[in-house]
Amino acid sequence: MASYRGGTRTNNEILTIFFTRLWELKIPSKIRILIWRIAHDYLPTLHNLRVRSLVVNTLCPVCQMEEESVDHLFRVCTFTQQVLWGVGVTVSTCNRESSWKNWLAAEFVNQSIEACKIRSIAYWAIWYNRNKLYHEGMREQAHEVVGFIKAYYAETTILGERL
Ligand SMILES: [Zn+2]
Repeated sequence: MASYRGGTRTNNEILTIFFTRLWELKIPSKIRILIWRIAHDYLPTLHNLRVRSLVVNTLCPVCQMEEESVDHLFRVCTFTQQVLWGVGVTVSTCNRESSWKNWLAAEFVNQSIEACKIRSIAYWAIWYNRNKLYHEGMREQAHEVVGFIKAYYAETTILGERL
């Protein structure tokens, strides 16, 4: 159970609201699909590749501090925290969900549509940035990723009706 605007909802209800809200966001479908994959942990993170014996070194390529899992890459990683802070995405202090999927769902359910939209774009940019670093060795600064997210958000807001 988690609180939601004064009432209480079950995890299933929160997940339903999360996915409904995700599908209603005016963002390109490639971003929507990525968020869906992040929520279900259907991403080739180094943790998931190790489980399939495809890699040995699972250290996060971005911060080199911990194993790279979806939870690490989109919540714990210091680079991600800098980027989210830079675009004004704040983490709900009341969100005590322990599983990654429920935590993410509660974040989406407890925040405004615009905050969900910018968080979605930010996650997409963070995954893109991680791939560029992991596969091509190209490292960007947090402020550069922040600048990209803000510009992309402004662009999709202007074009929103056409998406
Ligand atoms: Zn990291």
